[in-house]
Amino acid sequence: MTAVTDPFRLRDPARAEKLARTLRRLAPGRTVKLVHVCGTHEAAIAEHGLRSLLPEGVEVYEGPGCPVCVTSTADINVAVKLALEKDVVLCTFGDMLRVPGSELTLEEARAQGADVRVVLSAADAVRIARENPRKEVVFFAVGFETTAPATAAVLLGSPPHNFSVLCSHKLIPPALEALLRENTAVEGFLAPGHVSVIIGADAYRELARKHRIPVVVGGFEPLDVLYAVALLLKQLRDGRAEVENAYPRAVRPEGNPKAKELMGRAFEVVDAVWRGIGTIPTSGLGIREELSRFDARKKFGVEAGVGMEEPPGCRCPEVIMAKAVPTDCPLFGTACTPLSPVGPCMVGAEGACAIWYKYGERPRL
Ligand code: SF4
Repeated sequence: MTAVTDPFRLRDPARAEKLARTLRRLAPGRTVKLVHVCGTHEAAIAEHGLRSLLPEGVEVYEGPGCPVCVTSTADINVAVKLALEKDVVLCTFGDMLRVPGSELTLEEARAQGADVRVVLSAADAVRIARENPRKEVVFFAVGFETTAPATAAVLLGSPPHNFSVLCSHKLIPPALEALLRENTAVEGFLAPGHVSVIIGADAYRELARKHRIPVVVGGFEPLDVLYAVALLLKQLRDGRAEVENAYPRAVRPEGNPKAKELMGRAFEVVDAVWRGIGTIPTSGLGIREELSRFDARKKFGVEAGVGMEEPPGCRCPEVIMAKAVPTDCPLFGTACTPLSPVGPCMVGAEGACAIWYKYGERPRL
């Protein structure tokens, strides 16, 4: 097998058929649970019906790869509290508006008069701060290593005094380790392409060695996903536990040194609470002391409290930990839909429940 490197052949049916034959040859003859940690991977799998090409017994679950889904209720509560403060503009990504907090979503806070604005980046929030010097503009920063460098660049770029960041960035490798502690059935990881562009394929080597688990970095085209799954099955067949890069056209072994350097200068690694999982040591990013004047928690003196994580009946914690699929939840498609989400996995483009709802029938496991 060779990596898919020619962008003009990424949707070649002949290559897809060849990969499907390879997958059938690699059929393990038993149940094998593989996990990816990226909503974009889940969308590619569901949209293109890729589960139908997997050998019998090969199951692919979405783990904690949706940044909206894993943002803790306590952090949502802090964001809502800040948004309701007088003369505060709360800026964040669109998917965050409808994630349930303990009492309100940001969208409901906006309906109560809060100035909540959707932005595409931290830089947009800085622009809003410059345009509104009499207001305090808070950027609610969520996401993994993919979005953290942009927040770091803004923090290091002398933003205006009326700008601050409510930082909820998280790191993927410690979450993979936490998942393995909780879910011993997992036998391989399809590592996320976007995150890996930043941290590099080498970032998973310790995980693979320590837990003797295969890790394959995969891209997002259907052939990328099939190729990465084939490499995982091949490792399992051969009794290997290595890191392989099936997305070399975007991911380098060392990642993006400049982005990593920005993150290192702006943030320190801290323990973080993941919705559905709990506290994972060294899995979050906090703003460094020398930049604390831009840390919204310190500026406004707000501390994260605790909050009920999920509404009764919602099985998001199990979905996030790859112990259940969306259709295992009795609320899926009935009480819980994208128009009236009950839990965070039904909100936004990267949540497993929202993706399964969007693409209709239950994708075969
Ligand atoms: S369908 Fe809704 S209630 Fe059920 S797990 Fe998904 S988000 Fe939670």
